[in-house]
Amino acid sequence: MAIATLLPATTAFIQRAPRMLIGAEWVEAADGQTMPLRNPATGEQLCVVPRATVDDVDRAVLAARQAFDDSPWSRTRPRERQNLLWKLADLMQRDAELLAQLECLNNGKSAAVAQVMDVQLAIDFLRYMAGWATKIEGSSVEVSVPLMPDQQFHSFIRREAVGVVGAIVAWNFPLLLACWKLGPALATGCTVVLKPADETPLTALKLAELVQEAGYPDGVFNVITGTGITAGAALTHNPRVDKLTFTGSTAVGKEIGKIAMDSMTRVTLELGGKSPTIVMADADLGSAAAGAASAIFFNQGQVCCAGSRLYVQRKHFDNVVADIAGIANAMKLGSGLDTSVDMGPLISARQQERVWRYIEMGRESGATIACGGEQFGPGYFVKPTVIVDVDQQHSLVQEEIFGPVLVAIPFDDEADALRMANDSPYGLGASIWSNDLAAVHRMIPRIKSGSVWVNSHSALDPALPFGGYKMSGVGREMGYAAIEHYTELKSVLIKL
Ligand code: NAD
Repeated sequence: MAIATLLPATTAFIQRAPRMLIGAEWVEAADGQTMPLRNPATGEQLCVVPRATVDDVDRAVLAARQAFDDSPWSRTRPRERQNLLWKLADLMQRDAELLAQLECLNNGKSAAVAQVMDVQLAIDFLRYMAGWATKIEGSSVEVSVPLMPDQQFHSFIRREAVGVVGAIVAWNFPLLLACWKLGPALATGCTVVLKPADETPLTALKLAELVQEAGYPDGVFNVITGTGITAGAALTHNPRVDKLTFTGSTAVGKEIGKIAMDSMTRVTLELGGKSPTIVMADADLGSAAAGAASAIFFNQGQVCCAGSRLYVQRKHFDNVVADIAGIANAMKLGSGLDTSVDMGPLISARQQERVWRYIEMGRESGATIACGGEQFGPGYFVKPTVIVDVDQQHSLVQEEIFGPVLVAIPFDDEADALRMANDSPYGLGASIWSNDLAAVHRMIPRIKSGSVWVNSHSALDPALPFGGYKMSGVGREMGYAAIEHYTELKSVLIKL
């Protein structure tokens, strides 16, 4: 067992009871209310943060509005936006270990993994977006305006920043999800009010410090900590917000989408998933089993595109399931500060209880628990679990559990696999494990999901749009698609 030592800066950050950033000010909630954060590995209180009121949210949006409309930020050149984003990424690189430790203490995930995954992916993404800042283009068009045949026009299309962005994110990748929103917003010249998840605001607050240090004007980035029901709802309803971008559950996403439509606020929704892992008979079965295990157990299964449904061609079903169960049984659970640990705790007692309910539901309905199916504490641990003998229509197969629980079902042929893979309200990701090139290419266009991986799962790149079909959301993050979602088009016609 090797326990990572906390940096003095990590301890100091937590001990100073972090505040929210509104405009230039680090503030408490207007009414002085706070909310406790817990270390999921122990269940103990880590620190308290402000519980923002509706007034706090309004002040943050006003600061972002003024920064967008009136401050020097509204006149920044693309090169300055590029350089600032690059500077921010450099500061995150400098503080990568600190950010990873905060993520570990606040979320439960491994600090070592967070440093090379969450933090590094966030840095890479900001650098990728810094590149776009200088490459946002409009176009000129030769027009033939009807009814004015003799009139000459000069016509062009501008791509402009959408304005004030209200960003609300989930707790499973707190820093990375925030940066997926911050990157395109700052590259295009928007301003942002970020509401991190109730449980995990620490890296967002550290990020806000780094944004200040990078030299962004006041009000360009504001962070409000608080509950979804108060702070999140206030941000969603605020008429000064031009665009809402949300990562979280489908239930909350649907509500936000409806509210956004009422005011025609632009909206992007990155929601839940129940992604299939499909193992064809010809696959390299060893790597398919290892890949399927990592597809569900990485980040304790708290991944929107986790491979939570496993479909294996019938003749290999028992072997592949046995291999995955073997991998699961060998996993060591414990604190994310222990570098020898393979899996950390779930985010909260509530999430542990939710995951546990699904496992119990499986047991009660006669499903077989092939491995795991246990919970323990202190801390919010659930053992990696594989469940078989379930019907495709079972809640375990149809609903997002968001924990380390895999349901496995055999299939007979390609058509059978596609039918079951697509038989889901969600459509975020899917993986196909096969070396049959023709079969893979036949299947890719027929899978209804925003990402398809072949012989891998959850592989993400800043250049590839990420988002969902069906109940998994509206819009895309990353790639040029993100730039499109943070800009509006303006057609200009000049009569000559
Ligand atoms: P959640 O919907 O409960 O909360 C997400 C965020 O919304 C939090 O910040 C919360 O405070 C806020 N919120 C809650 N109620 C609100 C309301 N009424 N108005 C405004 N904001 C409100 O989701 P969660 O449990 O934090 O996260 C897990 C979910 O997120 C899973 O469904 C997962 O699949 C999804 N997710 C999706 C992606 C993606 O990119 N598609 C990525 C990560 C997580």
